[in-house]
Amino acid sequence: STVLVTGASGYIASHTTDILLSKGYNVRGTVRSDSKGKYLANLFKGKQGKFDFVIVEDISKQGAFDNAVKNVDGVAHMASPYYFHAETPEELSVPAIHGTVGILESLKRTNPNVQRVVVTSSSASIIDGTIKAPHTFTEESWNEISAKRCEELGAKASGQDKYRASKVLAERAFWKFFEENKPSFDGVSINPTLVLGPIIHQCDKPESLNTSVAGYYAWLTGRKSQDDLPAQNGNYVDVRDTALAHVLALTTPGSGGQRFITSNGPFSANDYVLQIEKDFPDLYKANNVPRGNNDKDYKSNLINQAIKFDGSNSIRELGLQYRPIEETLNEMGKSLRERFNF
Ligand code: NDP
Repeated sequence: STVLVTGASGYIASHTTDILLSKGYNVRGTVRSDSKGKYLANLFKGKQGKFDFVIVEDISKQGAFDNAVKNVDGVAHMASPYYFHAETPEELSVPAIHGTVGILESLKRTNPNVQRVVVTSSSASIIDGTIKAPHTFTEESWNEISAKRCEELGAKASGQDKYRASKVLAERAFWKFFEENKPSFDGVSINPTLVLGPIIHQCDKPESLNTSVAGYYAWLTGRKSQDDLPAQNGNYVDVRDTALAHVLALTTPGSGGQRFITSNGPFSANDYVLQIEKDFPDLYKANNVPRGNNDKDYKSNLINQAIKFDGSNSIRELGLQYRPIEETLNEMGKSLRERFNF
């Protein structure tokens, strides 16, 4: 069968496409340019499933996906802007919401055979930033704050609230569509925490790195100082585990109608620098990477005091297994060194 992956050129989507093709599914990817499509076609040569791509330049446009959704059996809707420097909330929320509702409408109108749509939401649509750690968030929680702040403050809202609002509004619109339209297909949301791990998508220069990997790159290349530690970053998940969660959510019969957090628990930049020292001692030295604290009590204290996202439903219901952080960080570092030749 054939799965449509939107934004296939993205960090998480390229891994999702990779796994689908390896499992023998055919994939149609949407990309914004011919060159991104050709890069992927080349990357996935020789895989078990067939890959092709269609160009969808602007996911906000009405009917943008009409052509792309024809004859697919399932959809992973992953295209959505992820950055913190938007000028207005709408810069992010318009493509996030219109893209999500648009693809559902196109499917309902033109594809009677599709069975499931998995949308990439985020822990951003779960977190309530006013709740202090220690606290554990589950799939029951909704971010009720960010969209309100954006409404009140407009362009003056924080970059983080602008992004978070776009995710929660898009996910709300997703579930509302099912409630109101009762389509013949069902939906699942995947709500990842910070996604880390190797890159396989097209990215010619560090300045174009996706947001979550760019954060780590700054530590690896000496752009952070001792004062920036421990930089509690919340929770993380490996990109390959999150990609696999999308595939399992598409193919696990009972998962329809559910949200799944993907998270392997709290981490901090202290983990970044300790692992850089261990895996890449040359860079650690040459780039003057800040010194980490390897004391056991210090580290468990950081974890105990952190906000947690409970990823156990994905283990129980999807059968997901999480990679340990050492592996995630090691392979992310290696892939960046290889890609940018340093
Ligand atoms: P990327 O920036 O690599 O992926 C974003 C994808 O969306 C790209 O393919 C991009 O296309 C596409 N896109 C963005 N805006 C538009 C638009 N207006 N029209 C068409 N396509 C668009 O980041 P990620 O892979 O990390 O993000 C993928 C999804 O995962 C997003 O929905 C994000 O919110 C979500 N997410 C990410 C997390 C993370 O830590 N990385 C955590 C939680 C959720 P192009 O390649 O041409 O730029």
